[in-house]
Amino acid sequence: MKWLAKSNLRQLIVGLVLLSTLLAVVNMFIASAKVQKQSLIDNTLQHNEGYAEKLAQTLQVTIENAQKELLFSARSLAKHWSEPEQIQQILLEASEQNTLFNSMHVANAEGLVLAASANIPVLTGQELLGPGHQHALSMRTAWVSEPFISQLDNLLVTLTAPIFAGDGQFIGYLAGNIYLQQNNLLYRIIGDHYQKDGSYVYVIDQQKRLLYHPDPKRLGIPTYTNPMLDTVLKGKTGSQAVVNSVGVEMLAGYAYVPIVDWGLVSQRPTKAVLDAHAGLMQKIMLNSMPINFAMLAVIWVFSGFISKPLKVLARNAQKMSLRSTIERVESLNAWYYEAQQLKQAFLLGLENIHDKVDKLQHDADIDPLTGLNNRRLLEQVLDTFAISNTPFSAITFDIDHFKKVNDSYGHAAGDQVLKELARIVLDSSRENDVSIRLGGEEFLILMANCTLEVAVKIAERLRITVMQHDFPGVGTVTISLGVAAWPQQSISPYDTLRIADERLYRAKNRGRNQVCCTEA
Ligand code: GH3
Ligand code: MG
Ligand code: MG
Repeated sequence: MKWLAKSNLRQLIVGLVLLSTLLAVVNMFIASAKVQKQSLIDNTLQHNEGYAEKLAQTLQVTIENAQKELLFSARSLAKHWSEPEQIQQILLEASEQNTLFNSMHVANAEGLVLAASANIPVLTGQELLGPGHQHALSMRTAWVSEPFISQLDNLLVTLTAPIFAGDGQFIGYLAGNIYLQQNNLLYRIIGDHYQKDGSYVYVIDQQKRLLYHPDPKRLGIPTYTNPMLDTVLKGKTGSQAVVNSVGVEMLAGYAYVPIVDWGLVSQRPTKAVLDAHAGLMQKIMLNSMPINFAMLAVIWVFSGFISKPLKVLARNAQKMSLRSTIERVESLNAWYYEAQQLKQAFLLGLENIHDKVDKLQHDADIDPLTGLNNRRLLEQVLDTFAISNTPFSAITFDIDHFKKVNDSYGHAAGDQVLKELARIVLDSSRENDVSIRLGGEEFLILMANCTLEVAVKIAERLRITVMQHDFPGVGTVTISLGVAAWPQQSISPYDTLRIADERLYRAKNRGRNQVCCTEA
């Protein structure tokens, strides 16, 4: 998890928001995809059921009407049964008026064709042998045949109307033939329903033989066993998902045509529905893209706002020792609660640290016994003189026979002398003079813009003041002093100290309690 520790707040916020948004979007996408898919499937099933029902009703009404027309013509034929020319005439008129049948014919009770429509005149005078006709002869009622192959090699379904003489004797029948393999009544009603997406309609009879199907080769052939077909042939209307004869999953609606005991199925491949659904989801995704990108931009900007105060605090935490850090943190716009609290705590901490550092700095530069500056300041002051080219004088001095003071009055009394002496030095020095305890009982006074002459006078005055001072418990104490000036007498500020020191020891050697400002 090293990368986690390396990432900043903004990246974490953006990462978290992106992750949660992504999860929410994916979740919603999956849920809505599921709901939409189911709703598309349900709609398709419902649509197919409605369509099958509508087609079945149209078929029912059309066949009812065709049968009524057949019965009407059959009654006319009965009236003119003895007039062959009239029979032919009535048939021709009937077949011209009726556009539902591919052909029509009239047969007598023996099955001999008395008249046939214009497209099958060859049948006239022939005996019909097909099972449809045989059945019509024996049934003697308005009837719809099963598909069969006729003498003229047509795969057909025949609708017949019996013809009864005035005394009620069965004398023949009138037939309207639907050729399944040619443009027929079913084609006109159902139309060329077959669509590019693989949707199609088919019609079956009670034996599940196909009466209408987009593949003409399958007409008249019993179709696969499908429990749905049993349901529709029992007279039910409904819908369900099925697998067709070539293994394609279909969403089918079905309805029953009671007058002919046929079943009608309208179906659409499930894949076509799902493809449409996939396209829909893709569109939803594409449409959501601009908002997603806008959201991303908003998250980016806001995460910047949120993380900025903490980022500034974190960056400044690395520069706590700098005084400018306080100003930078003070100008920080901590616009929310946590950032405000952190900012205040940070500022408090910073001030605390700087106070402590200042105090330590002060303590480090000050001699605790005398309150004078110590050696640490020396370098700084000399450098300042050198850089700013400020002329100065240095007075070094040392207490004469201080060892004796200690020996005679004790170390504590010696300390008191040192303190008292420091006070005298401070009292007699100017504001810009720097008084330093170099160590032990040795001191240094640095005076800016002070010539050797003036410095010697000051040294002399100090010597006299000390000499005349009464140190409590000790009495009088004397000091020896060495004075030097820069740039009057020395090459460098450091050299000045060395020279002053040499002069101090010269003063000692000359008998102490005196000021020395010369080389010899
Ligand atoms: P002179 O300088 O005149 O040659 O003689 P001196 O006796 O002063 O010289 P020396 O340098 O030999 O002795 C310095 C004495 O100062 C030794 C030490 O006991 C004393 N001393 C140094 N620092 C302190 C201090 O902080 N307190 C006290 N009480 N005595 C100190
Ligand atoms: Mg001494
Ligand atoms: Mg000494």
